[in-house]
Amino acid sequence: MSATSAPPAPEAAPAKTDFIRQIVREDLASGKHTAIRTRFPPEPNGYLHIGHAKAICLDFGIAQEFGGTCNLRFDDTNPVKEDPEYVRAICEDVRWLGFDWHALRHASDYFEVFYLAAEKLIRQGDAYVCDLTAEQVREYRGTLTEPGRDSPWRNRSVEENLDLFRRMRAGEFPDGARTLRAKIDMASGNINLRDPALYRIKHVPHPIAGAGWCIYPMYDFAHSLSDAIEGITHSLCTLEFEDHRPLYDWCVDRVALHRHPELLRPLLDQGYPLEAAKPRQIEFSRLNINYTVMSKRKLMALVQEGLVDGWDDPRMPTLQGIRRRGYTPASLRLFAERVGISKQNSLIDFSVLENCLREDLDAHAPRRMAVLDPLRLVVTNLAEDHVETLRFANHPKDESLGTREVPFARELWIERDDFAEVPPKGFKRLVPGGEVRLRGAGIVRCDEVVKDTDGRVVELRCTLDPDSRPGLPGADRKVKGTIHWVSARHAVAAEVRLYDRLFAVPDPDNDEGGRSYKDCLNPESRRTVRGWVEPAAAGAAPEQSFQFERLGYFVADRHDHRPDAPVFNRSVSLRDTWSAA
Ligand code: ATP
Ligand code: MG
Repeated sequence: MSATSAPPAPEAAPAKTDFIRQIVREDLASGKHTAIRTRFPPEPNGYLHIGHAKAICLDFGIAQEFGGTCNLRFDDTNPVKEDPEYVRAICEDVRWLGFDWHALRHASDYFEVFYLAAEKLIRQGDAYVCDLTAEQVREYRGTLTEPGRDSPWRNRSVEENLDLFRRMRAGEFPDGARTLRAKIDMASGNINLRDPALYRIKHVPHPIAGAGWCIYPMYDFAHSLSDAIEGITHSLCTLEFEDHRPLYDWCVDRVALHRHPELLRPLLDQGYPLEAAKPRQIEFSRLNINYTVMSKRKLMALVQEGLVDGWDDPRMPTLQGIRRRGYTPASLRLFAERVGISKQNSLIDFSVLENCLREDLDAHAPRRMAVLDPLRLVVTNLAEDHVETLRFANHPKDESLGTREVPFARELWIERDDFAEVPPKGFKRLVPGGEVRLRGAGIVRCDEVVKDTDGRVVELRCTLDPDSRPGLPGADRKVKGTIHWVSARHAVAAEVRLYDRLFAVPDPDNDEGGRSYKDCLNPESRRTVRGWVEPAAAGAAPEQSFQFERLGYFVADRHDHRPDAPVFNRSVSLRDTWSAA
């Protein structure tokens, strides 16, 4: 366990003033709370996505800003869907985003307390064992316009309920035979309050709690009590839980853990530090982004049907995916901040996310040169064996990023489209007989265009103006264009994966007309090319980001990159190419 640790706070950032932070401030000012405790409660049934990053930045961010603590709690009450692989990945993702938890908990840690709480509800006459089948429960529940009907089992005696509930736990009944239900109000306008199930029978061992359990608590019961057990002060969740809040409060109030420490005995016996309190649930709007889908279920289908290369495919909106794509933790925190917190559901433009990455990388990514579609350029007035080492700044605005050596020789690679035999109007780069500046090396003139038998340009023969070399008085001579290059004999061949948006339409989730999000994939979302990168790029560590000058931002692939066989992913282009579309 460690204290919630801070990612470097943005210097002199104005205090955030969203409605949740406003509530927290008031609760501290009024003395309602002296310490703020939050939690991030994922269900370990898939990988986290960008939407979760918003929740993480909120839950951990608030704890951090107000000197409180935030727990990471796995909501593992459904033993069927959960997998330790997801638990591992979620921990990694939270840390990667720059946060650390106060305590790591599982809802299953509290199974014994939940059970005691359920018996307490039964003794109070607040819960009963019901024998209706799932289908009957639905029939009795009523609709939005009609009240429900009381279950015929609603008025069992406390003794009978206790006996049946204990036998449910002992495994005497098959799956689905009985449930434990809260006795609230079958006529409530809020369907969540029409005697919701608190426990169901499921003869499946639990991955953590083990084979001892065959009854499992339902979400609302387990979640509200987990918050109470941990003394969570502000339980932040998305808007779809607004209608559940009365049930959340009902569970918290009727069990009243904060007044009944005896219910916590099973945890105290195991040495848990406990601070039971009455938590308050506050809802905020989910993050939705166009050109993507954000539900674990839909993302899972993309993986299972082989439509992407796995959970960490760089086109996926999972945190594992965008991390591999080259998104940085700082860019995601910036994004969460920019999107803000409110109760209004909205759709954020994908370019907002991309711009956050551009901003972060523009400020922090070292510059390198790479050529993705190479054309040979020979500097004919240099000797065959000419080699020199130029020194380049790694960043035009940040000297602290230092300098690097860039080899320059007689034969270079330039981008094929930086040359045009018949230039379109306004073309500022190299043309037959024309001049261009080779970034940091001097000005060349194209004397001769060499073609193969098919008429394809294969080589440009150029002369370098000796007076235009760096450091000489002629170095500042004006020419229209500057292009990047790499030395052919020093450059390292690299695989470069040119990623683009996974979906071709802004609303893949819109299934009107029978369309599925799976029909909306962008066929151009990945193209792999062989290019050449300067030696100082090839030597990068995995996950190092660069701006390849004039091309975009790229990252050394987390899994496949090796200095002798570099692999780079395009994280984002230099400019938004979608907004005009
Ligand atoms: P999904 O529907 O993608 O499976 P979920 O809500 O079921 O998501 P959980 O693991 O239950 O996922 O979520 C953990 C926390 O993250 C919850 O508090 C939830 O409200 C929050 N969360 C999930 N998706 C988003 C989103 N798109 N925007 C903001 N918060 C989200
Ligand atoms: Mg869920």
